[in-house]
Amino acid sequence: MGSAASAQKTIYLEVDGKVQKIVFSQQSSSSDIKQILCTSAGLPWQTPIILVDSRGTLIATDPTIPGNSKYSPYRIICEDLSPRPEKEDVFHKLMTQVAEEFTRAFRISDLKREVNERITALERRVEAEGQKATDIEKCKLELRNLRDEIEERSGSRLSCSCKYNRSGDIIRINPRKDVHSYPKYTLSPETIETLKKPTFDVWHWEYNEMLSCLEFMYHDLGIVQEFNMNPITLKCWLLCIQENYRTNPFHNFRHCFCVTQMMYGMIHLCELQGRLSILELGILMTAAVCHDLDHPGYNNTYQINAHTELAIRYNDISPLENHHCAVAFQILAQPESNIFSNISLELFKQIRQSIIRLILATDMARHADILESFKQVISTFDFNSEEHVKTLQMMMIKCCDISNEVRPTEVAEPWVDCLLEEYFMQSDREKLEGLPVTPFMDRDKVTKPKAQIGFIKFVLIPMFETVMKLFPQIEEVMVRPLQEARDHYEELIQLEEAMAEVQQKKAEILSGGGKVKRNVESL
Ligand code: 5GP
Ligand code: MN
Repeated sequence: MGSAASAQKTIYLEVDGKVQKIVFSQQSSSSDIKQILCTSAGLPWQTPIILVDSRGTLIATDPTIPGNSKYSPYRIICEDLSPRPEKEDVFHKLMTQVAEEFTRAFRISDLKREVNERITALERRVEAEGQKATDIEKCKLELRNLRDEIEERSGSRLSCSCKYNRSGDIIRINPRKDVHSYPKYTLSPETIETLKKPTFDVWHWEYNEMLSCLEFMYHDLGIVQEFNMNPITLKCWLLCIQENYRTNPFHNFRHCFCVTQMMYGMIHLCELQGRLSILELGILMTAAVCHDLDHPGYNNTYQINAHTELAIRYNDISPLENHHCAVAFQILAQPESNIFSNISLELFKQIRQSIIRLILATDMARHADILESFKQVISTFDFNSEEHVKTLQMMMIKCCDISNEVRPTEVAEPWVDCLLEEYFMQSDREKLEGLPVTPFMDRDKVTKPKAQIGFIKFVLIPMFETVMKLFPQIEEVMVRPLQEARDHYEELIQLEEAMAEVQQKKAEILSGGGKVKRNVESL
């Protein structure tokens, strides 16, 4: 049996919904195999064919063809393209394109089938388990994940970090003509004035208005002129940026806008226009705009614990921040959205290096180290020192990134709800997937004041107080609101504790009441 089996190869092929067993000799040549496959599929024997597996992966039709099972049969894709010897290259390219298209189509149809099967299974579970609330919640989450998966796998979204992702890095590109659909807003003098301040109401604006504000900032700081930017390219780039932020509760385009607006505000407040070059300001603003591009809504801890594609791609080293950066430069690699197309290659290299450094600095895992290196240079700070300016730029983007609590309460507070919503999505998913649950994200443990108090006291205030040593003017506008937010949340915590005490007393009285009642009855 051994020799017969080793001399023969068996594969399974699906033709018109039926699975066929095909046996051929291992001595068969590539063209013999193709001929057998064509015959099995009822095709003329010279038809150019492509063999794919159930996941759409191309399979070589030569003697190395891997064996498969009848449960995962191969399929044939054929296309009536006749190769002409002198055009072999063109033909090969064409075939590759056709193969890619078919592969994609097969993936999507496979995916649809798989999703339908999983939804049916989930619905059966809900029915069978008597629609227990917790199970329904789990099912909802699974369905949401499935929906994400459809978007990602069908390529309608940028490559994501979830472990199901199979798509490559395909950014969403805006055709240049779309720029005209983005109306020009004339900002009122009041808007222009408040845009420079942390009190600016970031919830008040639609996407197009935020885009106009960002565009205005680039013109206003002289960045457009400095880099000889084409103003239409700037619009196109901004549209593309907006498209490549996802609609997460927290890490979305409005967060990008907030961080950039705070950067613009700090540039004015700290009078950096006279102290840093326009090149350095352009780097700060562009890093802020790009810093969370295509954030999937699940943090680095999740990425690493779930062994997502991003964690694997970046070897667990700041996977998200590396991804944000990569997406930023994919967008800049498109001529229609390359705001740096009119500068020298040398300058572009320098800008790229700096933007990468700044975006990577937003990983909070590096917070203590970066703060410490900034502390080291404060007493001798020199705006002419490249090293000092680099450290300052890193601190600036960090401050802006986590600056929601610097804003007035009515602007800051909704952001906490958004953050918690995203946190809970993550912890729910971690529970569902049996991963370690990040404690500060657990809906059973966290409340709004609890989430904020430690962050304000131990992260925000120490950091902004450090920056205040270099820029005393931020005390009034940034540090004071943080202290007020700390006091506000401290009061809320006291209130929560008082409420908990009342609840406990109530429970004691009720159980005591029961004892009294029993004692009375036993008399
Ligand atoms: P990111 O780069 O992800 O926008 O910001 C860094 C991280 O800082 C966030 O993912 C979040 O965990 C944390 N963070 C930012 N702002 C706040 C806040 O207001 N409260 C709390 N508790 N964490 C925050
Ligand atoms: Mn951010």
